[in-house]
Amino acid sequence: MQDRMSDGRPIRGPKDLAHLRVAPSGMCWWCQARPATTGEHKFKRADLTRLMADGEPLLWGDGDGNTREIRGRSGVTRDRYGVVKFPKSLCEPCNNKRSKPFDNAYDIYSEYVDRTWLRIMPGIDFQQVFGADWEARTLNLARYYGKHFGCRMVRAGFPIPDSLREFLDGATDMPDAHMGLITTDSIHARYKGGLSISPDFVEADRNLTRLKRYVLAAYIGSIGVRYEWREEGFTERSQFFHYPRPVINCFKDEIAVCEGRTRRPGWFASLLQWANRPSS
Ligand SMILES: [Zn+2]
Repeated sequence: MQDRMSDGRPIRGPKDLAHLRVAPSGMCWWCQARPATTGEHKFKRADLTRLMADGEPLLWGDGDGNTREIRGRSGVTRDRYGVVKFPKSLCEPCNNKRSKPFDNAYDIYSEYVDRTWLRIMPGIDFQQVFGADWEARTLNLARYYGKHFGCRMVRAGFPIPDSLREFLDGATDMPDAHMGLITTDSIHARYKGGLSISPDFVEADRNLTRLKRYVLAAYIGSIGVRYEWREEGFTERSQFFHYPRPVINCFKDEIAVCEGRTRRPGWFASLLQWANRPSS
């Protein structure tokens, strides 16, 4: 594992940044009005059971450096490792009723990603995934990931950007955040058809007085969604959820994902019409 970014800056451990972490308030991070009584699943049960249906053990990683292998359905239903759910950070209505359309869009998408060999494809065709209703459902898919990333921010002690709450409330963009589709070679080598989430990456200012940037990713197999928040915002951004056929950006490893350093794709871009570029 590398411990430096490509520009030579050290990657600091959680201890160095501990003083910048915010303690959980006990309230739901989305509505901020009701107590946090439920924990979001790190991996949806439908994903876990579907991916195990062929009898192979399922390998998944939870971003804390833990890699687990689960054999058989009982491993999922019993949550024997106690690591399938995030700590409680949402109220029951937000975690269930309010986010139901997000969960529904994700279920359709994850089933599609699981049965489609996307690593060799330049992008994902959301009209094929969702049909005529692709615009609303792709936004809801992005909001599913937004909810997932928000729960991870609470767990890691990162303040939740207001733009994330507003996005879940129905806004159609986030001025200080970027979401893109990705595929990562090291994740492919390690998890193949499994599920994994990246380490939570955070960047502070030089004097470690405040957080300036977060990068989080979550994968189905090697196909992921990457979220980046920047304190100063993005002047130019290209959100995957605004395009019918957004590209899948290719990365070598998780350091490259943190840095936003893409590798050349294996396909011939000039032959294709895929829109949407990584942020610059
Ligand atoms: Zn709530």
